[in-house]
Amino acid sequence: MMQQVGSSSASPEAEWRRRRESGRLSFQRCRACCAAIFYPRAICTHCGSQDLIFCDSAGVGRVESFTMIARPGDPGAESVVALAIVQLDEGIKLMAKLVDPPDGDIIGMTAVLVPKARLHDDFPSFRIKT
Ligand SMILES: [Zn+2]
Repeated sequence: MMQQVGSSSASPEAEWRRRRESGRLSFQRCRACCAAIFYPRAICTHCGSQDLIFCDSAGVGRVESFTMIARPGDPGAESVVALAIVQLDEGIKLMAKLVDPPDGDIIGMTAVLVPKARLHDDFPSFRIKT
C-alpha cells in the first residue's frame, strides 16, 4: 500500500473540506497516471492507483452549463440560485454557485473562484469574468 499524503487519518473528503475551509479549491492528482481527480477519492478513477496527492486549483474555468434554481419558502436564503458546471483549467469539472451572474447566455464564459465566499455552502462560488 502506498503512502497517503497529508494527514493519514483523514479521509480524502475530510482533507478536501479542511482545505476548502481555508479558502482553497483543491483536487487530487494521480502520481501514477497524472489524471486530475474530483470529487476526492481514495483511489484513482483512471488507473486504480492509491498514490494521489492534493493540489490547489487556480480557480479559473469555463462555464459548461448553468441553471437557475428557485428556492421558495426558504426564508433568509437567496430566492434564486445560479448553479453551473464549471470546467476548470486543471481538467476537472465541478458544480459551482455563480455569484451575481449576468443576464443572458453565459455558456463558454470564463468563471473565477470567489475563494472565501460562503464557505459553508455545498458548492464553491464563482463569478463570471466580464
Ligand atoms: Zn491514475
